Amino acid sequence: MIAVSLERLRARLEALAGFGGLPGGGVTRPCWSPRHEEARGWLLGELRAAGLEAWVDPAGNVFGATGVGALAADRPVVLTGSHIDTVPEGGILDGALGVVAGLECLETVRQAGAAHRLPLAVAAWSDEEGRYGSLFGSRAFTGRLDVERIPEMAAADGERLVDAMARAGFDARRAPEARAPAGAVAAYVELHIEQGPRLEEAGLPIGVVDSIVGVRRTRVVFTGQADHAGTTPMDRRRDGFLAAAEYALRARDLVVRRGGGRSVTNVGVVSVHPGVSNIVPARGELVHEMRSPDADVLAGLARECEALARRTARRRRVAVEVRPLSATAPALCAERVQRAVEAACVTVGLASTRLYSAAGHDAQNLAAIADAGMIFIPSKGGRSHRVDEMSDWEAIERGANVLLHTLLALAA
Ligand SMILES: [Zn+2]
Repeated sequence: MIAVSLERLRARLEALAGFGGLPGGGVTRPCWSPRHEEARGWLLGELRAAGLEAWVDPAGNVFGATGVGALAADRPVVLTGSHIDTVPEGGILDGALGVVAGLECLETVRQAGAAHRLPLAVAAWSDEEGRYGSLFGSRAFTGRLDVERIPEMAAADGERLVDAMARAGFDARRAPEARAPAGAVAAYVELHIEQGPRLEEAGLPIGVVDSIVGVRRTRVVFTGQADHAGTTPMDRRRDGFLAAAEYALRARDLVVRRGGGRSVTNVGVVSVHPGVSNIVPARGELVHEMRSPDADVLAGLARECEALARRTARRRRVAVEVRPLSATAPALCAERVQRAVEAACVTVGLASTRLYSAAGHDAQNLAAIADAGMIFIPSKGGRSHRVDEMSDWEAIERGANVLLHTLLALAA
């Protein structure tokens, strides 16, 4: 039976980890950074050395393919891929695994002369981690990029996307030209680490993703009144921070209680104004994030949280503004792709389980234009987005072989 080479796969993963590699392990390789662009050059070289056609589109997405030098409406490809950008101080597998394993699968198929009716292609999508805008490359590819917003897209440190792309030799305003011709993708399947503890705890080697969570981010601003923190009696204070704090705790309870057991919430950005110890805070500001694989549940939680914010504001005698920042809908993976992954597991002799992805992935954009799915392998300790993110090499080999047989089945 045809199988990938773990030796070659591991050597490439370790080589890629060197671009932006950190002394204590892990990697910092944000999209468009010099380290990322070096990694792009390396990847193009590896794709060509493997005998594949390779090219880069106007959004910076890198492609390698068997037999085709571009995507066209009249010749659909079976596509795999992931991303080679990382979060700051991230791990060596998030994204890299799906790209390098995709390359390994295509090289294995080519060398073995394995039959496949449709061409196979692998993509490395730009800025999946969203330094400038999350899932940027796959959004451009699937026609979901908001063209008007490109000039104002910027990183948290203020660097503009147009400048970062220009430095790397790209024109950001041309990114929408990366949109794939209709019908160019017959199916998409992405191999990724789970980034959570479910597979490891269940002792299962393969997860077949059935859906990807939607994410809503909302800015909630409570505005009360600044006062002297010593002389103002407690019962006269209109404290913007305490309202925000009360909201954060109650919203957490609400999501746990009403989220159907599959919803999570986080308040990861908090600011207090004016932010000095002897002034009662006039304003408390939060960015409230919620995720759920169920669109109706997510929409219901958003409504209930807004009502909670208004109740909290009334009780604390402050004003509140609830401003949506972003919202992605949960994406459903195609039954056809899930079945192909499960059949590949049977071929390779592995158990699998269906699960939803609690993290966002490029596959959620691809699901809008093609039958899409994902394959998860266990993450050690459920750890990800940190330098000690890892999976066993045997688990990586198993995942790559499941990807290989899934691609062959989808392309048959
Ligand atoms: Zn990823």
